[in-house]
Amino acid sequence: MSAGFVVPAPPTTSLAVVGEADRFPVRRVFCVGRNFAEHAKEMGADTREPPFYFSKPADALVDVSGSTSGAAPHPIPYPPATEDLHHEVEMVVAIGRGGTDIAVADALAHVYGFGVGVDLTRRDLQAQAKAMRRPWDLAKGFDASGPVGAITPVAALPGADAAAMGSGAIELRVNGATAQSGDMSELVWSTAELVANLSSSVALAAGDVIFTGTPAGVGALQRGDVVEASVAGLETVHIELV
Ligand code: MN
Repeated sequence: MSAGFVVPAPPTTSLAVVGEADRFPVRRVFCVGRNFAEHAKEMGADTREPPFYFSKPADALVDVSGSTSGAAPHPIPYPPATEDLHHEVEMVVAIGRGGTDIAVADALAHVYGFGVGVDLTRRDLQAQAKAMRRPWDLAKGFDASGPVGAITPVAALPGADAAAMGSGAIELRVNGATAQSGDMSELVWSTAELVANLSSSVALAAGDVIFTGTPAGVGALQRGDVVEASVAGLETVHIELV
């Protein structure tokens, strides 16, 4: 008789994939801080420092695929314990093949696909954590803190080339008004550099996800706000804070 689990085993968090019935299983979620120069300035830094990371739990991600343009926005709960919930639109990298000490030149071959995510942040808790030199976990890793749209496989990108995502508009609109606007070519550390750098610290594996950082213009959201987050070439995320 094989051993079972003493409590119900948690379900595997997964994301929809454009053009596929099968889903992308989420293993770990790494997020990069301050990876657009203008956002780094608005957060109080202004030099190219090495990339740094924080994590969200895998089950903080919410599949909001299919709620894009015209469809009803996907509801996301306004979280407890904050009065300053901020939006951060980000391109999300879905790792398809793991590795350690991956070379920058090889890094894009480890990417399965790309999606659009919103790194929801309890900015008041983050500011308090920074001031008290405490961890960011509950500022960044709360329930439903990472809505993500469908993942577009590299095979479906122009030229079937992950490098296609190295440029293109990244934007976030709140109730139709543009709040964040940038271009993926402005990343301080590119996708390839992030995959290589992260793989020198941890063994990356299929299912790992990287939020690559947000452009300037982060700001507060209220209950009832409708958010559209987009990266050119990827499925737009459309959510409502409820
Ligand atoms: Mn972020």
